[in-house]
Amino acid sequence: MTNSNKPSTNASSGGITADDPTVYVAGHRGLVGGAIWRAFEDKGGVDLVSRASSQLDLRDRNATFEFVADTRPETVIISAGKVGGILANSTYPVDFLSDNVLIAVNLLDACHAADVERVLYLGSSCIYPKMAPQPISEDSMLTGALEPTNEAYAIAKIAGILHVQGYRRQYGRNWVSAMPTNLYGPGDNFDTTAGHVLPSMMAKFHAASRSGEPVVLWGSGSPRREFLHVDDLASALLTVLEKYDAPEPINVGTGSDVSILELAGMISDAVGGDLQVEWDRSKPDGTPRKLLDVGRLNELGWTPSIQLREGIQQTYDWYKNDVTVSS
Ligand code: GDP
Repeated sequence: MTNSNKPSTNASSGGITADDPTVYVAGHRGLVGGAIWRAFEDKGGVDLVSRASSQLDLRDRNATFEFVADTRPETVIISAGKVGGILANSTYPVDFLSDNVLIAVNLLDACHAADVERVLYLGSSCIYPKMAPQPISEDSMLTGALEPTNEAYAIAKIAGILHVQGYRRQYGRNWVSAMPTNLYGPGDNFDTTAGHVLPSMMAKFHAASRSGEPVVLWGSGSPRREFLHVDDLASALLTVLEKYDAPEPINVGTGSDVSILELAGMISDAVGGDLQVEWDRSKPDGTPRKLLDVGRLNELGWTPSIQLREGIQQTYDWYKNDVTVSS
């Protein structure tokens, strides 16, 4: 599948001007990094740099230190990492823990060595305890047991957040961490096995609309999730970079959630047709509910602008076109 809306391998945003600050987006070819890149491009006034993982392996400490020292960015956004859906997380715990710990520790240490002024480290809402009171406040981190299906990833992300907090306390760095809720949008991973629920469901409904076979979804359909469009995430992160400076992570979400069953209905509407749905209850449900408390973000004056139905339709239009182009 092609990802036509993503920046190229060895990326830099056009003409470098001496006065513009350099911003390094780690993970610029992923769903999140790509959206952040586009948001910075739209805003202008910065020199954007990045490297594809084939050119710079962030698990390689020496290579990472060398790149950051040579580039000397003023701001670094850490959106690189190994990500995947509920099944990939529980099947490959070694990769999820090892890759994400190495990337966070190497990059944060390299940013310190190069005296990077502003770092934004991206975690995930799955760092919060499985049974955290809803909506989940930033203060609930490390107050209870994690959801077992994504424990390895969550532990790696918590290590990164503590490392950022450590740099604030020990070296006075004004670096911050943000915790996005479930994200979706063009350029996502639409793999039906390894993908997150929204793109994976979309690919299943799309395939069923062509084959006439029933759509097989996982679990009971009763868990509730919050979904944020990546372009809304990127706009929120620019606000966070501009206005937020505290050790606690800041949640980024919409403040409202839907059941997996309701989500399936919305995706079915976007794809069209009267498709039969079956639920495979041998697959895990995961956390019963995951809704973030976004009070801290709202206080910065930010609210989302893309409604879930609208975002699903826009993402499906992109996906349909992309599948047709690449098949
Ligand atoms: P993620 O979206 O896979 O990262 O995982 P979550 O922990 O948010 O859980 C997704 C929820 O959607 C679970 O209750 C799954 O059982 C359910 N689900 C239903 N169909 C699918 C599917 O096709 N893919 C995925 N990933 N989850 C599904």
